[in-house]
Amino acid sequence: MIDYLEALREVVARAKPLAAESISLADALGRTLARDVLAREPVPPFSKATMDGYAVRAADTCAAGGAGAVELEVIEDLPAGRVCRRDIGPGRAVRIMTGAPLPGGADAVVMVENTEKAGGWVRILRPVGQGDNIGEAGEDVQKGDLVLEKGDLVGPAEVGMLAALGHASVRSSRRPEVAVIATGDEIVEPGRKPRPGQIRNSNGHALRAMALQAGAKADYLGIARDRDSSLKLKIRKARKADILVLSGGVSVGDHDLVKEELRGLGVRPVFWRVRIKPGKPVFFGVRGRQLVFGLPGNPTSAMVTFHLFVRPAIDRMLGRKIVGPRAGKAVLEKEIALKPGRTQFLRAVLAGDGPGLRVDPFPDQKSGVLRSMVRSRALIVVPADVSRIERGTVVEILFLE
Ligand code: AMP
Ligand code: MG
Repeated sequence: MIDYLEALREVVARAKPLAAESISLADALGRTLARDVLAREPVPPFSKATMDGYAVRAADTCAAGGAGAVELEVIEDLPAGRVCRRDIGPGRAVRIMTGAPLPGGADAVVMVENTEKAGGWVRILRPVGQGDNIGEAGEDVQKGDLVLEKGDLVGPAEVGMLAALGHASVRSSRRPEVAVIATGDEIVEPGRKPRPGQIRNSNGHALRAMALQAGAKADYLGIARDRDSSLKLKIRKARKADILVLSGGVSVGDHDLVKEELRGLGVRPVFWRVRIKPGKPVFFGVRGRQLVFGLPGNPTSAMVTFHLFVRPAIDRMLGRKIVGPRAGKAVLEKEIALKPGRTQFLRAVLAGDGPGLRVDPFPDQKSGVLRSMVRSRALIVVPADVSRIERGTVVEILFLE
């Protein structure tokens, strides 16, 4: 039996980023960058007007607003998307729209609200300073800037930045294929009516959903019965997967055959049993490049151990910098008293946010109670040597989404 962090290290050390593939920008949301992104050109690429108005030489407008009115000759009309053919000389202006490139000779834009049109001339009502109402070339990004980094998760802002930099496609580690097998003689699929003694298969479906949510591809292979032939068949079917996840059959019962069958099919055990609650009997092994997880059958144990061990493996294969559930802190709403000896992960409801984030352990922490997962958005991490935590204490949590 090993400790939680030791077990996590064993998993993370064996999960390697998968080979990168090229994906179109339209598919990049939620993916992870396999390379740094350097700007090949400045953004914006040219200095431009940030207001509708008149491009001018700022010095020409000094006297505006005082006794002597300033009138400038308008030599051109410049919409966005066009380039001015002439430079602006002294005493001259170009009518300019937001986004149009600043004409040569101009160093400011007078907003249209501070002008009056008079035939081919414009009256400037207020002076401007150099650089007013101008977006400078490269003020967002300079050529050569390191804008995004390898391992960054692509969100909507990253999609926008990649587009602004001219990347129609990006390199990203291939998504791992996660094969999911549920085991048990007593379980039936949700569409079937259970006979006496049977229960519905929740794990197969919850674990498949978790793999998808973690950014992997999921292949649900159905239910294996607690017989070697049935288990072998399903495990063989999963041989191409990057990660194989089984639920049930890893404890010490007479029908818990998963570990033996895995070993028989060439899976090398790394650990079995971790000093955690829930999820103590969790199994982890490797077969070539494949990582194999035997999760306990109790629905909450299966889900919690997926969060603790399978998610970090998926994150690593995706090439992410940060692996596993995000850690944080919250103020405990109710006193916790428990038996020490194992690191405990209490399913907990969150309230409030920011520094005022509060956390309330779900009343029933039994590992068969799936309701605790439905309601909970965090796990409270209670170290193995702690038996009591006072209400109001700031505790470590793992966010579940
Ligand atoms: P096991 O780990 O196989 O001993 O199973 C522990 C408990 O989880 C038993 O009560 C099983 O009936 C239950 N269980 C196992 N597999 C599933 C599943 N796929 N869906 C729901 N409950 C399950
Ligand atoms: Mg079982």
